[in-house]
Amino acid sequence: MVAPAVNLLDLNRSELAAFFDSLDEPPTRATHVLQAIHRDGLANIDDMRMLNQGLRQRLAACAEIKLPEITSDHTSQDGTRKWLVRLHDGLCIETVYIPEAERGTLCVSSQVGCALNCDFCATGAQGFNRNLQVSEIIGQVWLAVRALSQQQGRHDHHITNIVMMGMGEPLLNFDNLVQALDIMMDDYAYGLSKHRVTVSTAGVVPAMKRLSQASPVSIAVSLHAPNDAIRTPLVPLNKKYPIAVLLAACRDYFPAPSKRTILIEYTLMDGVNDRPAHAEELAKLLSDLPVKVNLIPFNPFPGSHYRCASQAAIDEFHAILMQAGINTTTRKTRGEDINAACGQLIGDFQDRTRRRLQNASARPA
Ligand code: SAH
Repeated sequence: MVAPAVNLLDLNRSELAAFFDSLDEPPTRATHVLQAIHRDGLANIDDMRMLNQGLRQRLAACAEIKLPEITSDHTSQDGTRKWLVRLHDGLCIETVYIPEAERGTLCVSSQVGCALNCDFCATGAQGFNRNLQVSEIIGQVWLAVRALSQQQGRHDHHITNIVMMGMGEPLLNFDNLVQALDIMMDDYAYGLSKHRVTVSTAGVVPAMKRLSQASPVSIAVSLHAPNDAIRTPLVPLNKKYPIAVLLAACRDYFPAPSKRTILIEYTLMDGVNDRPAHAEELAKLLSDLPVKVNLIPFNPFPGSHYRCASQAAIDEFHAILMQAGINTTTRKTRGEDINAACGQLIGDFQDRTRRRLQNASARPA
């Protein structure tokens, strides 16, 4: 039986070095190939002219570069761009680019669907299918860089920040996530600083601890409520890791004397979690933690029974937190007209039966 070809896009630098070692080649080949694929955008081994012909031939016999594929591309009136990306088994995920004056943020998916079933999130309502491979996570970045470089316009379109805030719960796809993060931050690939790569989690506490040791990236936590009674119906994972446990993990995340902070995400829903009393309770809860708060206006989707908080409620919530000394920003809703806003990403897959079966095995242990 012929061994399946290695997809070079699945390997970070140390794995590429190990792979070349198995071919009796020096580890410097790893940096050459990483640069060729991620910086120069080569997707064919034969185009890698920095490798001699003999090596290219040996490589082509056991390895390949297999990318996912963009199947649709929409640009919102506000410039936000959303790609539907098809994977090799035909399932689709979504990737979003958000241009701003000073930065360009790429919102990357980590799973096909999501098993956490948060009540206010369209991805959760779709169910879960599977984890993404490293090549499917970093492939979204590869595709976005190439697509943006072809975009004409007044602004320079390039990626300065990556947020793992697309479809899925990144920490439930831990190993593949960490390897893809390595490539995002590798100077021979995308070279992004740890301050500009953020993993968002609904609060998978044991995996947060592992991430703090495995990768120096920034972290965001989806809190959405000032107490367990409000949070559990919104984020069912709260039954397993309630707020006190989650915030203890936040406190320990960047050990002193680090000055780094954790971003607390809080989606505001009318009458659910947006009242002044909720803001006051939240301010108390977070008062001695190294956090910043990002308020997210709820984005509706078909079938959702929540409404967005009013602008007045959002402004008052923001003001109460600021008065309490908590650094707070309100996220501008972007790409709503193309269903690219937070919580609106659904990709393209349907299999409810499989969802129920896989849900059981995908839940955190
Ligand atoms: N599973 C991860 C990352 C995915 S979502 C997490 O939970 O953090 C990125 C952010 O968008 C999360 O804070 C999520 O709670 C929020 N979100 C989900 N649905 C939303 C909606 N309909 N409107 C606004 N924000 C939403």
